Amino acid sequence: MTILVVAEHDNVSIKGATFNTVKAATACGGDIHLLVAGHGANEVAQAAAHIEGVGKILYADAAQFEHGLAEELAAQVTAIALDYSHILFPATASGKNVAPRVAAQLDVAQISDISRVVSVDTFERPVYAGNAIATVQSSDKIKVVTVRPTAFEAAAHTESAVDVQTIPAVQPAAVTTFVGAEISKSERPDLQGAGIVVSGGRGLGSQAQFDALLSPLADKLQAALGASRAAVDSGYAPNDLQVGQTGKIVAPQLYIACGISGAIQHLAGMKDSKVIVAINKDPEAPIFGVADYGLVGDIFEFVPELVAQI
Ligand code: FAD
Repeated sequence: MTILVVAEHDNVSIKGATFNTVKAATACGGDIHLLVAGHGANEVAQAAAHIEGVGKILYADAAQFEHGLAEELAAQVTAIALDYSHILFPATASGKNVAPRVAAQLDVAQISDISRVVSVDTFERPVYAGNAIATVQSSDKIKVVTVRPTAFEAAAHTESAVDVQTIPAVQPAAVTTFVGAEISKSERPDLQGAGIVVSGGRGLGSQAQFDALLSPLADKLQAALGASRAAVDSGYAPNDLQVGQTGKIVAPQLYIACGISGAIQHLAGMKDSKVIVAINKDPEAPIFGVADYGLVGDIFEFVPELVAQI
């Protein structure tokens, strides 16, 4: 049994979720191959060779892979798919864009967002915004799976390196053209990889107050900023900060929720955080149901006080 993990990278470095996906592959058992499809991404392939659990790196280098277009990547994965029992992608925006195309090409059902490997053909996945866990068994010959990164530890780095094998790139699918990317730049850690997240909700009242209140706390703690959907929809924070069912799933060591009520759709994105701190003036707010530490009071008073104490 051989498992293919599809690496997510930007031709310079490997994205963190790839490490968690390798860990999920390890739980399936069998040999693990990691596909790095990129352009001028030799350094990525060399770095990938040090991920614990991986037996071989397959490196496909071609111009059509430069921008991670889903159609191009899916064509490459499909071309080598028959050699594998499982094909695993991180359940990130990128992985979720490619996996269904591969599953459709192979005429198999996709198994989405797994949080546990029960056996080689059986997986658990959260449903109903994380309120229930479905156990899914697949009889498909090739299992196309997306992996919830926060549900698995990251695979470790090893000193020794495995072989990097260059494989031929497929002909470009050429059905889409890369036009441009507008990527928000931030000095802060990436929201999904951060150890600490400071998150704000509708209670912040405005974009100016969101920034003025939460930035000093995030700066002191070297934390990423997050937001509820209500804060994003009200224009207090950009939508790449949204945490929750329709935003990002995070599980940092520490999650500080400021002025967030704790609707189930928000909890779905953060309740696996190791320690949750909630500051809310409403003692009945549902966020206190999942919080390890709760402060009942005004964020405009408590957050500056917290910053002063750190
Ligand atoms: P509110 O619910 O309005 O809560 C604001 C809180 O701030 C209140 O508890 C209030 O007591 C407190 N507060 C106000 N002023 C202060 C103050 N000065 N000091 C202290 N506390 C104060 N939501 C998400 O977050 N992420 C998602 O991904 C998401 N996906 C969704 C998907 C679907 C299909 C649907 C239907 C909804 C989704 N939602 C999501 C929306 C969700 O249901 C809630 O509406 C949203 O999470 C509420 O955001 P909030 O807690 O910031 O706002």
